[in-house]
Amino acid sequence: MIAVAIDGPAGAGKSTMAKKAAAELGFVYVDTGAIYRAVGLACIKKGIDEGDKNAVEKLLQEIDISIVFLNGEQHILLNDIDVSEEIRTENVSMAASTVSAIPEVRKILLDLQRNFAKRDNVIMDGRDIGTVVLPNAQVKIFLTASPEIRAKRRVLQLAEKGEEADYTTVLTDIVKRDYNDTNREIAPLKPAENAVIVDTSNMTLEESVKKISEIIKERADI
Ligand code: C5P
Repeated sequence: MIAVAIDGPAGAGKSTMAKKAAAELGFVYVDTGAIYRAVGLACIKKGIDEGDKNAVEKLLQEIDISIVFLNGEQHILLNDIDVSEEIRTENVSMAASTVSAIPEVRKILLDLQRNFAKRDNVIMDGRDIGTVVLPNAQVKIFLTASPEIRAKRRVLQLAEKGEEADYTTVLTDIVKRDYNDTNREIAPLKPAENAVIVDTSNMTLEESVKKISEIIKERADI
C-alpha cells in the first residue's frame, strides 16, 4: 500500500490538492478534518462546551462517527446521518479545533483513520498525518501559505458558493486556528521530519497541483 500524508494549516488548499492528486493517481482521498468537525458539530448540537474535556469524552461514548465513500467521494456520518455539508461552517471549524486538543478525542479517532491506509492506497490530509497517524507514509507533504493569502482564498471560495464573508473575520479565525493547532500539547501541527514543505503563497492552483503530483510520483516511485 502507498500512503501520502498531506498536512498543513487551515486553508492551505490541502483538500483541493489532495482530491485532484487522488483522482489522477486512483488513490482514495481521506479528509481527516471532517472527523474532528463531526465531533465539534455533535458538541454544538448537544450544547456541550467544546473545551470541557469530561463532557466531550462522555459525549464520545454516546455518538457514532463513520466515513463512507459514495461514488469515490467521502461522506461523514454522525449517528448514521450524513453531515458532510453541515460541518462546513466557521462555527464548526472552531469547535473542531477546540475538541481536537483533547487527547482522548485524538486517541479514539486514531484507528478510524489508520484503518483506511490498511485497505487502500490513500492520500490523507490533516494536521498530524505524517507525524502521528501514518508515520511510515512513503510521501509526506507539508502544504502552507501565508495567513493573508489563505484568508483571501477562503473569502473567494465562499463567494463562489454565494456566501459573503468578511476578510478580517476570516483572517482572525485562521490565525486563531493556526495558533490552537500549532500550540496544543498533543499532535501539534508541524512538518514531519522528512516532509517536503510546499509554500503555495505565490503559486496558482494549477502550479500547486502540478508540484504536488510531481512530489508524489517521485517519492512513491510511481
Ligand atoms: O482540515 P479542517 O480545517 O477540516 O480541520 C478542522 C480542525 O480539525 C482543524 O483546525 C484541527 O484543529 C483539527 N484537525 C486535527 N487533526 C487532523 C485534522 C484536523 O487536529 N488530522
